[in-house]
Amino acid sequence: MEDTKKTKAGLSTSLLRAGRPHRGWVNTPVTRGSTYVFDTVAQWNDTRRRRGEERLLSYGSRGTDSTHALEDALVELEGGHRARIFPTGLAAIAVVFLAYLKAGDHVLITDAVYEPVRRLCAESLAQLGITHTYYSPDGSDLADKIQPNTTMIYAENPGSLTYDMVDLRAVSALAKKHGCLLAVDNTWGSGILYQPLALGADISVIAATKYLSGHSDVMMGTVVTNEAAWPAMNRAALNYGQTVGADDAYLMLRGLRTLPLRMRAHQENMLAVADWLSRDKRVARVMCPAYAEGEDRKIFERDFKGSNGLLSVEFAPTVSLAKMEAMIDALEYFGLGASWGGYESLVVPMNMPAARSLSSWSERGAMCRFHCGLEDAEDLIADLQRAFDAHLS
Ligand SMILES: *Cc1c(COP(=O)(O)O)cnc(C)c1O
Repeated sequence: MEDTKKTKAGLSTSLLRAGRPHRGWVNTPVTRGSTYVFDTVAQWNDTRRRRGEERLLSYGSRGTDSTHALEDALVELEGGHRARIFPTGLAAIAVVFLAYLKAGDHVLITDAVYEPVRRLCAESLAQLGITHTYYSPDGSDLADKIQPNTTMIYAENPGSLTYDMVDLRAVSALAKKHGCLLAVDNTWGSGILYQPLALGADISVIAATKYLSGHSDVMMGTVVTNEAAWPAMNRAALNYGQTVGADDAYLMLRGLRTLPLRMRAHQENMLAVADWLSRDKRVARVMCPAYAEGEDRKIFERDFKGSNGLLSVEFAPTVSLAKMEAMIDALEYFGLGASWGGYESLVVPMNMPAARSLSSWSERGAMCRFHCGLEDAEDLIADLQRAFDAHLS
């Protein structure tokens, strides 16, 4: 046997090479465009015939060189069949529901879901005659909650705010047994730490606004599917007119080149901050997958390639909500703002009763979520020390 087969490149290597021209400029030039002009009617007709199946240039909303280059990189990142891109993460999630669900269908949603999805389900899906039920973030009640009309299980792993883990392989087996699709919000892992499609998911969604962009300057959502789920996703994205501008696609592709490097640095700072927090008496619990215990720890070590910059804190009973809020106001390097995944550190108070339906949080301490950015870890810790000492005593 000939031994000429190339070994598959690592993810850092393939992310640096994906979606780039074969020669000339290192980067794919930005192609801003609505109209694409054809030479002949024969070409025009031929493209119209083939563009349903093939990725061809024909009109701006169907893709430009810039969006195609980004799609190629996303397929490398998530290990799927094809990708579509959307103006926000939430838009991507909404089109996932619209692509696969119809009136009369039922979808199972993790109770640890990104909170705005709750409103999307309660208001917009309900209006279309699509019902939903929340399941426990560990998936323990999933089998019992499947109904004859359940056609999708929607997961997020780990869950928003509290990083609950579910065994995606087990969920996938259950979904297949019942003929349901499995869609996963993969924003936490962002492809670099977690690849749901390899574990049996049909659809993976990422809020690229977060780590893929990495610089808090662009909003976007991405969907990568396996081959079977692709045609419905492609049609829905086209029918709902979903695309992004070439400049945003360019910025996203630029962010992707340094994703592995940035993620390692975010993880390192998060672990340093988590270590400091976990030794402080005013902290009751540090929540992050790297500190998971029991079954969650097994899942994390088996299926994830590391951590990002996120952690959440539950304070001791001595720390009132008002004290925690004063502490947050006093932080200098942790900005108070939504989102995460950019280069800067952030903090937000957590309102768990609004974010969950199945579990009670009334007996728990005040909580906030930190995103550890790329500042020097010693500065982040000194900032926390200052604010804690001023307000949590
Ligand atoms: C931020 C986020 C989204 C939504 O992304 P936007 O681009 O802000 O709409 C979806 N899912 C998760 C887990 C997120 O953190």
